[in-house]
Amino acid sequence: SLSPELARAEALIREIANYPSPGILFRDITPLLGDAGALRATVDALIEPFNGLFDVVAGLEARGFLLASAAAYASGTGLMPIRKAGKLPRPAASVGYKLEYGTAEVEAHDDFAPGTRVLLIDDVLATGGTLAAAHELVERLGYVAAGTSVLFEIDGLGGRETVADASLHTVFRS
Ligand code: AMP
Repeated sequence: SLSPELARAEALIREIANYPSPGILFRDITPLLGDAGALRATVDALIEPFNGLFDVVAGLEARGFLLASAAAYASGTGLMPIRKAGKLPRPAASVGYKLEYGTAEVEAHDDFAPGTRVLLIDDVLATGGTLAAAHELVERLGYVAAGTSVLFEIDGLGGRETVADASLHTVFRS
């Protein structure tokens, strides 16, 4: 069961029907981000199970950046942006994955030492394709996935199975 502050934060996630395409129920976290108490409670909840177990927080472009940056600051660690293809000046590795329509790629630099323990953070877990690719990217760069933390898990899309990380932690789910 959620603390009162987290329950209040969950109520600040706005549902937008049929965005960005018909049949999709989009979870818009901007009202939650705009509330000081909700932002603090959710960032704390994202990192709490992994305290002391990671050296750097990886955020997935773009909304994952917003949470990962705060999580890195709150935990006194560094930040590793995992970006969409073509955004980084010198990507050290790329991993492709399938979308409903077409394909996508995630990329990152290799500025950390081999064995660096990475906590992966994103806003929403849907099919899990993005986070699974991010896991592969982290491994390809020689780092260790120390955990996966997501603000909102959408049930019924197989995301948890696709990510296949026993440590997967989600703050809210539907
Ligand atoms: P997936 O790879 O299918 O798990 O999709 C995850 C990515 O797409 C995340 O980075 C989310 O930000 C975004 N996403 C997917 N579905 C939704 C949704 N219903 N509401 C908000 N964001 C979503």
